[in-house]
Amino acid sequence: MELIDGNRIAASLIAELKAQVAALPGRPPCLALVRVGDDPASVSYVRKKEQTAAEIGVTSRILLPPATISQADLCRLIDDLNADPGVDGILIQSPLPKGFDEVAVFRRVAPEKDVDGFHTVNLGKVAQEDDTGFVACTPAGIMELLARSGVDLRGKHVVVLGRSLIVGKPVALLALQKRAGANGTVTVCHSATPDLPALTRLADVLIAAIGRPEFVTAEMVKPGAVVIDVGINRVPDPTRKTGYRLTGDVHFPSVSPRCSLITPVPGGVGPMTVAMLMKNTVKARLLSLSPAPAR
Ligand code: NAP
Repeated sequence: MELIDGNRIAASLIAELKAQVAALPGRPPCLALVRVGDDPASVSYVRKKEQTAAEIGVTSRILLPPATISQADLCRLIDDLNADPGVDGILIQSPLPKGFDEVAVFRRVAPEKDVDGFHTVNLGKVAQEDDTGFVACTPAGIMELLARSGVDLRGKHVVVLGRSLIVGKPVALLALQKRAGANGTVTVCHSATPDLPALTRLADVLIAAIGRPEFVTAEMVKPGAVVIDVGINRVPDPTRKTGYRLTGDVHFPSVSPRCSLITPVPGGVGPMTVAMLMKNTVKARLLSLSPAPAR
């Protein structure tokens, strides 16, 4: 078994982006990070994104409306960012507090600034294999991890556990694309799928994104499989100062000896998500400098 080191792969991507930003004409790319309320995980994710942006030379603009902001006022705030020529990318940190229509908020972001890739237009472009759009950061990060680890999906059975808009559906579409590195044969499973283990055991590449701590156990995995663990779950752990530990959707101790390659949690998919956000922000800046022809 070999580990896929997301920290190392993200660091090389970040170094490439830093060089690319340094060579850009005019002002640096600018990313607006909008965090509604004070959810502790969101606080740490936005801080990490701000730090990584600074490392690359991307300017970040942090907006912290309270959880009591109305949907209409949040939409107005997004409209202002959409209209601001000094902002290239807009990220609305998910999950929003209860009561918001999250998909409507994602759709409010102008598609050409939607570096999170959740707008209908950008999801549609993934389905149409149109490279002028933005691919959602976690699925894009998974594909980059596979590519940089030498895993070609052609001729492979890819099983995706989870069908969310943020991970499961877009990663399934990406694995299916008719392009180098992809061309996978894809099965998507969800909570209404009967006999999950029978399907996951068929996977040459298993992508687990269900948000259930250590759900995937050894008997669900084919020997020699590549396992990508997207899950980030906080599990109570009184022995830690924080009172919790992070665990993936895969039971790492039993599954890892069976795999050829596996991502750890933390240090696997997570760092790639942030790196791909930066890649999308640099792309947004490049597109604003020379807009792509409409397709
Ligand atoms: P989500 O929106 O809650 O979706 C979970 C998906 O898993 C749903 O499609 C659900 O099925 C399915 N599911 C849940 N329980 C299941 C079960 N027992 N058997 C089969 N399918 C089941 O979650 P998400 O946003 O995709 O996130 C998934 C995990 O990835 C979470 O741990 C999250 O924290 C993590 N995540 C990590 C990153 C990163 O950067 N590494 C980014 C995003 C998310 P239904 O559709 O039928 O309900």
